[in-house]
Amino acid sequence: MKSYAVAACVLVAGCAPPPTEMLRTTDACHGGPVTLWLDFEGAGVVHAASDDSSAMPVASSLAPTNAVVPPFASTAIAPEVTRDQAIAAIVDRVRTIFQPYAVDVVTARPAAAPYTRILIGGTAAALGVSATEAGVANVDCGNLTDRDVAYDFAAEQTPDYGGVVGIANTAAHEAGHAFGLEHVDDPHDVMYAAATPMLTLPDLFDVSFRASGSFSSYGSAGRSCTSADPVDEPAILGCNVGTALAGGDTEAPTLDLPMPTGDVMSPMMLTATASDNVGVVRVEAYKDLELVASLSTPPYSFTITAAPAERFYVTVEALDAAGNRTTVTRPFVAATPPTGDDGVGLPPGDMAVAQPQPTAASGCALAGAPSLPWPWILALAAPLFRATRRSSGSGSSSRRRR
Ligand SMILES: [Zn+2]
Repeated sequence: MKSYAVAACVLVAGCAPPPTEMLRTTDACHGGPVTLWLDFEGAGVVHAASDDSSAMPVASSLAPTNAVVPPFASTAIAPEVTRDQAIAAIVDRVRTIFQPYAVDVVTARPAAAPYTRILIGGTAAALGVSATEAGVANVDCGNLTDRDVAYDFAAEQTPDYGGVVGIANTAAHEAGHAFGLEHVDDPHDVMYAAATPMLTLPDLFDVSFRASGSFSSYGSAGRSCTSADPVDEPAILGCNVGTALAGGDTEAPTLDLPMPTGDVMSPMMLTATASDNVGVVRVEAYKDLELVASLSTPPYSFTITAAPAERFYVTVEALDAAGNRTTVTRPFVAATPPTGDDGVGLPPGDMAVAQPQPTAASGCALAGAPSLPWPWILALAAPLFRATRRSSGSGSSSRRRR
């Protein structure tokens, strides 16, 4: 028999027994469809024995005490775009990740309960949990309740720590816990807990629920739910939340980001081209993990600024109304201005952009992966690893694994 959520609780003498609902086995899963409310507007939270996502204030077993989760603030996350654009980028990425499943992702309070709710905003410290995490959720084996409350500490996830991409991945990760998934060891998986530094920048744009990972004990002492290695997350989710209806638009947009040739001035303007069998809803542009442009109509032109000798990636994504998306990442190097006889550099802003390397390095098999030697990717991956570790949603102690 598996208990919902807090394994530690049922092991502690004197701990109140969990409600009957939590003692159902995971043999019969919940089924779908389910509603996932990504709440960016903040809420009062009260500690409770069990979650109630629709209560006002929110009833949350994860909250150590009463707290206030502030609204999502975008200025430190994506200063080049509006708050609405940052939110749209997060929400639509979560929709893409859950596209194969019967998960209705909404941003306003649903008309009727029950629903799973993720509060996106603020810091871990504001909730009173460890300040090293970017998200936290209960593991709801079998998705036996639809009233789970989880947290995505957006203020912890500045671009160096994932930006809107990381916030979306964290939201999907915590929702995965709320829908009955544990951590797995596949770095390309939404439920990867970043116990090893294996993620690259393109990985973070391309996480999904996979069937190839094995259970990871990261953040927990052992399995809470019933699953066998390799963990078939699509099958578990299909059971726990339902699968999306067959049919519909599954064709992803086409997308290209031509590389400029020769020297360019900084700031430089790039123009992506995109098309779709139904229609391109939006093209987003990122410098590394900072969303710098959100373009709903062509031409999909945007401006990038860079310091001399700066190495960075530009990623563009095109998405359609069905959540299909295509991602292209290009590597750039801003040239170091040559110095003249007087030792004075050329005026700032004169920037050459390196051409992409002709072939991918061995092992660089990711779609859209930059054609760069791995050491460079790993150099970028190092801070991203730290970011992802923060977004694991379940820390090194079992407490946060609840
Ligand atoms: Zn987690």
